[in-house]
Amino acid sequence: MPQIQRSYSLKTHNTFGIDVKADAFVEVTSVDDLKGLLSLPAVRSDLKLVLGGGSNVLFTRPVDGLVISMGIQGIEVTEAPNNGHFVTAGAGVVWHQLVEFCVNKGLVGIENLSLIPGRVGAAPMQNIGAYGVELKDVFHHLDALHIESGELRRFYLDECQFGYRESVFKRQLSGRYIITSVTLRLSENAPLNTSYGAIREQLATMGVENPIAADVSRAVIAIRQSKLPDPAMLGNAGSFFKNPVVPLALFEQLKAEYPNMPHYPAPDGMKLAAGWLIEQCGWKGKRVGNTGCHEQQALVIVNYGGATGQEIVDLAMNVTMSVNQRFGVELEREVNLF
Ligand code: FAD
Ligand code: NAP
Repeated sequence: MPQIQRSYSLKTHNTFGIDVKADAFVEVTSVDDLKGLLSLPAVRSDLKLVLGGGSNVLFTRPVDGLVISMGIQGIEVTEAPNNGHFVTAGAGVVWHQLVEFCVNKGLVGIENLSLIPGRVGAAPMQNIGAYGVELKDVFHHLDALHIESGELRRFYLDECQFGYRESVFKRQLSGRYIITSVTLRLSENAPLNTSYGAIREQLATMGVENPIAADVSRAVIAIRQSKLPDPAMLGNAGSFFKNPVVPLALFEQLKAEYPNMPHYPAPDGMKLAAGWLIEQCGWKGKRVGNTGCHEQQALVIVNYGGATGQEIVDLAMNVTMSVNQRFGVELEREVNLF
């Protein structure tokens, strides 16, 4: 049985670098360990949070209970129908290591998701996405342990209710299941997605005319490294807010006033770039105490060192209010607050 540690600092377990303590902390490295732990009623009632890489969480207070850190490893490839491959990864595998594994094997599908921090088990939580690809595009199924009964359940694509940074695990089933593995369906000859202008420009800069998955991965890594703050250097959790999708009527109104406003058609309206809206309100590069909006991407709130979770929440509220006052658009938080 894994060792439970008491009064444990979470500072190195969240990319904002917030220094809070959990009453208890334990790392699990196998499904059996997890089942064993959850068979104890005291553990079940004390469990407050499952943590992967901590790259999408903001702690605003100490955790008064148990934190389980997900460490289940292993990547396995099996044959899928029609020349495809199922790739199954343990929930504790670092996401980018899975991307590298697939790219090195010539398996196409997740190269656009290169360098997203965090672990595999969190990827379905918000249906991670970047540069025109979302997890759901390659997702086949996941296995998850029901916390109350200790039973393993398999969820297929149509049961996960994936949406833009959304899933059933963030909504109706929040706090009920612990994801233990994720299975993707990839293939060697799937088409690459280079629809995002930034990827095409980067490939051109690299002199690549006929890209393969490894080239797209390299392009995405280069773009990300050039504009996103590295959490190891500057605490952050990536985009603090989602990109808002607004009704077409509001979009037309805003476009008349701001003809240069970036916009992208979405299934239920028009997607606006939250970073642009925030920048227009003067927040880009602005520092408030120990926090601020990043100088290259205003959507990323950073911890310059020593910030509390509450300071970051306060800044986020002020940003939300400015955007609402100026554009009539309500920003929704992407980061999970604890
Ligand atoms: P954590 O932060 O540890 O957890 C996130 C949530 O998932 C929590 O609610 C947690 O309780 C829950 N959870 C974690 N593991 C499990 C599990 N096994 N079972 C059940 N619940 C679980 N996101 C994107 O979508 N696209 C991006 O391009 C992107 N870029 C980023 C860039 C930077 C620099 C940073 C810091 C973050 C970025 N993110 C991005 C956000 C984040 O990396 C992803 O959401 C990632 O999937 C979070 O993984 P994690 O392991 O760190 O999750
Ligand atoms: P960007 O290129 O400055 O673009 C701003 C926003 O416009 C993006 O967020 C993207 O929305 C949207 N966009 C741009 N080109 C698009 C196109 N061709 N079609 C549809 N939508 C388009 O964005 P960025 O900040 O550098 O991020 C690049 C990518 O990485 C984005 O996909 C972004 O979501 C992802 N990312 C996510 C996080 C996170 O924490 N969630 C952090 C960093 C980067 P979408 O976000 O819907 O793609």
